[in-house]
Order: sequence, then C-alpha cells, then structure tokens
Amino acid sequence: MNILVSSCLLGINCKYNGKNNLCPSVKNLEKNYHLIPICPEVLGGLKTPRVPSEVRQNKVITKNNLDVTKNFIKGALRALDIANENQCEIAILKSNSPSCGFGKIYDGTFSSNLVGGNGITADLLYKNGIVILNENNFSEQIH
Ligand code: SF4
Repeated sequence: MNILVSSCLLGINCKYNGKNNLCPSVKNLEKNYHLIPICPEVLGGLKTPRVPSEVRQNKVITKNNLDVTKNFIKGALRALDIANENQCEIAILKSNSPSCGFGKIYDGTFSSNLVGGNGITADLLYKNGIVILNENNFSEQIH
C-alpha cells in the first residue's frame, strides 16, 4: 500500500527553518508500506529556508505580510496529482501546518495559537476522498 507522507516527518529538511520534524514511528512504517514523501510548500515553488506562513481568512500570508496563497494552492494541486498517480488512499500529514494540518491549524497571528481548520493541501486531499491522519493519530489506523 502506498501512503502519502509529509516529507518533514521523514526527516527531510524542508521545514520553513531548514530543519525537519522527524517522527521515528512514522518513518518506521517504511518497513511495511511504500511511503511517498511530499512537501506541498516546496512543490508550490517556495524555497527552504523560507519565511513562515499561516492561514488568515482563506489566504496564506507570510510573517512579513506577503500573500503566498498561489504557491500553497499550486503545491496542494501537485500533491493531489502525486497522490492520484500513486493510488494513495491515506495521507499522514504534519499536524497544525498551514499546508498539512487537518482539524487544527495556527490562527494566522504567528503566536502558536490554534484554531479549527485545515491546511490548504490537507483540505484538498480530504475533499478528494483521501483519509487524512497525522503523526499523533496514525497508529489508530495503520500498524
Ligand atoms: S509543508 Fe508540510 S511537509 Fe512541508 S515542511 Fe510544512 S508540514 Fe512539512
């Protein structure tokens, strides 16, 4: 089975600060599954490192007030293409991210507050029938 996974959870340095969010228990799944890494922000043409962004009123705005919504949409569409090309029915995406978060995301004030909502990519994948899990809850469904 192919599973789409946020690249940063696999230890790839694609996070805004040039680091990663390695989650050993997610990476360990590669023993039993074919993991397909994606970083929607990189797929959308953004560089690493980059100024962090958050979702604010249906737009994605960087901490220095640039509108990067187009990059986020481009990355989401590319992630959906990759999911479809690889018949991924499940995605394990990094929680809280403006791209990858599902159910809760940062509130747009860059103060670590969370609000209900989905990241741009997680939302598009979900609306196309893909089950969205994160690094904290995937083990309830994948072993
Ligand atoms: S966009 Fe997703 S995969 Fe890329 S660094 Fe952010 S959380 Fe990780």
